[in-house]
Amino acid sequence: MNNRELFLQHVAQTSSAPIGLEITKAKGIHLWDTSEKKYVDLISGFSVCNIGHSHPAVVKAVQEQAAEYMHLIVYGEFIESPQVQYAKLLTNHLPASLNCVYFTNSGAEATEGAMKLAKRITGRSKMIAFHNAYHGSTHGALSIMGGEYWRNAFRPLLPDILHFNYDDDAVLESIDSSVACVILETVQAESGITVPRKEWLQAIRKKCDEHCVLLIFDEIQAGFGRTGTVWAFEQFNVVPDILLLGKALGGGMPLGAFIADKKLMSTLTYNPVLGHITTFGGHPVSCAAGKAAFEILLSGDLIASAKKKEHILQEELKHPAILAKSAHGLWMSLKFKDDFTNQAIVHQCVKNGLITDWFLFAPDRLRIAPPLIISEDELSAVCAMIIKSIDEVLSKS
Ligand code: PLP
Repeated sequence: MNNRELFLQHVAQTSSAPIGLEITKAKGIHLWDTSEKKYVDLISGFSVCNIGHSHPAVVKAVQEQAAEYMHLIVYGEFIESPQVQYAKLLTNHLPASLNCVYFTNSGAEATEGAMKLAKRITGRSKMIAFHNAYHGSTHGALSIMGGEYWRNAFRPLLPDILHFNYDDDAVLESIDSSVACVILETVQAESGITVPRKEWLQAIRKKCDEHCVLLIFDEIQAGFGRTGTVWAFEQFNVVPDILLLGKALGGGMPLGAFIADKKLMSTLTYNPVLGHITTFGGHPVSCAAGKAAFEILLSGDLIASAKKKEHILQEELKHPAILAKSAHGLWMSLKFKDDFTNQAIVHQCVKNGLITDWFLFAPDRLRIAPPLIISEDELSAVCAMIIKSIDEVLSKS
């Protein structure tokens, strides 16, 4: 059997139509397959590779840390310099109240940790989440996922979860002293990039303060410069009580985190002790890689350039078949007439050397989220190739 057959036979499949490319090398914004065909990565491994693939500084950090030590002991027992130094760097770039980092293995585990922390602090179990939200695939995270189609087969899930429309004031009157937390993506990703009104986020913050409800922002996709600021919440003048990070946090290595004030976080150390346990969370190699990647991201004008590059996308992606666009920084969705048209365009883009995809709750939308290191000329070439791919698909239909 060749690798493709082995992949389909022995690697568990949950995608009904995996992209199925066999990649032999990834560097910067590019990937190469076994036939040495070169692709531009337009999705950054789903908002992971914000500084591109295999950045030399990240590779060096991984190699050096792996040579020093890898796994030593479960999380939180030994003082591991990569964890300590990365927590310090992250909190230096966050508001004062977000000063204590719990490193996890993944985004979903960060969501789980934050949900537990909210219950532990408030002694309440009710949680408010939003339609079209994605926070991970474990049972807790699935309970707050915003779509019955995705949840139904896995019931029973957590009780006391209320779902509301995102960016809709209807949620406000339900935020009262029976609620543990409101959890939302600062910019909702899988609905096709939905940017909420500033006043809506601020009104939620006010209601949470009035009733001692914890506000949790998931920036697992939106964080690390994607929207043109280090954190998306900076653009809304709202600070969450708990921040969820993942994806680009590890610079290409697996890592997640939930971040809160030390006073809140310390409730996980008693009654019971070890309120959250993880073996590999905050793996030293992942923390070393993540710290190196974050340092690169912060140097130069990579983050600020995301807004300028959004302008290029807005200007150069014009076509009658594009029915709507939504963007925030170097992060855009293009809406087509239906799922089939979008899928055909995704396939045509892959044929033309562009890796792109659709959105979980918006299969009729094309995902554009290249590494932030893409140059303006490369971005213009990508736009031209997307337009060409659309034309090729339409000429066949
Ligand atoms: N939250 C958001 C907004 C996500 O996009 C994802 C993953 O796509 C997650 C949470 C879950 O992260 P992970 O896949 O690392 O568990």
